[in-house]
Amino acid sequence: GSQSLRGYASAAPTAAFAGQKGPNGKYTVTLIPGDGIGPEISQSVKDIYSAAGAPIQWEEVDVTPILKNGKTAIPDAAIASVRKNTVALKGPLATPIGKGHVSLNLTLRRTFNLFANVRPCASIQGYKTPYDNVDTVLIRENTEGEYSGIEHEIVDGVVQSIKLITWDASERVAKYAFHYAQANGRKRVTAVHKANIMKMSDGMFLSACRQVAKDFPGIQYDEDLLDRACLQITQNPAPYADRVMVMPNLYGDILSDMCAGLIGGLGLTPSGNIGRDASIFEAVHGSAPDIAGKGLANPTALLLSSLMMLRHMNLNEYADRIEKATLGTIAEGKTITGDLGGKASTKEYTDAIVKRL
Ligand code: NAD
Repeated sequence: GSQSLRGYASAAPTAAFAGQKGPNGKYTVTLIPGDGIGPEISQSVKDIYSAAGAPIQWEEVDVTPILKNGKTAIPDAAIASVRKNTVALKGPLATPIGKGHVSLNLTLRRTFNLFANVRPCASIQGYKTPYDNVDTVLIRENTEGEYSGIEHEIVDGVVQSIKLITWDASERVAKYAFHYAQANGRKRVTAVHKANIMKMSDGMFLSACRQVAKDFPGIQYDEDLLDRACLQITQNPAPYADRVMVMPNLYGDILSDMCAGLIGGLGLTPSGNIGRDASIFEAVHGSAPDIAGKGLANPTALLLSSLMMLRHMNLNEYADRIEKATLGTIAEGKTITGDLGGKASTKEYTDAIVKRL
């Protein structure tokens, strides 16, 4: 059957790509291979792109943290590369839990003010899961909320962790969500929240969404409590296929993994971190230390993220061709990786996609 390509549609016009082709006819894109399975899945993407003849030249950069004024930081060369190319594909970066350096993912998002995280999640026709009609697009506020990193112990045994919501960031991500809906043929924007409990913070997020909604009379607007959205999506995902959901940071982190679970897991779900000056595309999943270095990783999530990037760069033909080969390989089910119930290695799966290009 024909696969809906809508789920991986391009970014909205608020962050249009303005890069130039080099003398070799190719666009230069920063590649951050990342930790754990990152190098393996990046290699797979590189192999598929060169087989497809995609006009992309990878500028590979190292983001191993350095010490700068006593703080861990991303090397200047990596930052400069993203700034110059304005688009990057990024593998997962491991973050120490509970202690150690701040998340480099957060640092990148802050450095380039990547205010919107777009997470499409669509059933792959032919690959059997409890539903075949999941087609959600979730837009996550990417710079604040519970991820402000402001935490302190007030007295022994009592920790305060600040959830920060600002009008500006809420309005900005809401605008992006409406633009995205408009550009991608989605009828409705649904703000997902817990304003029944967090009346002031989520309440302000909703106020910003309501105000922005007034500027988009062609797009319907409504609101869902986070818990209700979880229940409804897992019971019947169909009504979510015509809309875009927008929400504060932490809710988007969790809800997108729930949606991923409905279509076959984290090996399949892409994302784009969109900013005004740069955009960084990456899988939703992490560095998967349990399978790293074993040739078992599923490269699809990073590959589909790269296709969001191609569409952001108006290279739709290449994106469509690679997507068709990828989804066709999964639908056929003969050469798929272990997370999808198959026996193929990363390399075998990659080769199967290349054969279908
Ligand atoms: P994870 O996503 O790395 O792994 C969760 C489970 O999913 C594991 O069992 C893993 O094997 C499996 N999995 C994930 N991606 C897969 C793929 N492509 N193919 C096959 N199986 C796959 O989550 P985690 O274990 O909680 O985190 C590991 C590290 O990754 C942590 O340091 C975390 O901070 C980091 N992380 C980074 C990002 C990012 O770079 N954006 C996102 C999430 C987590």
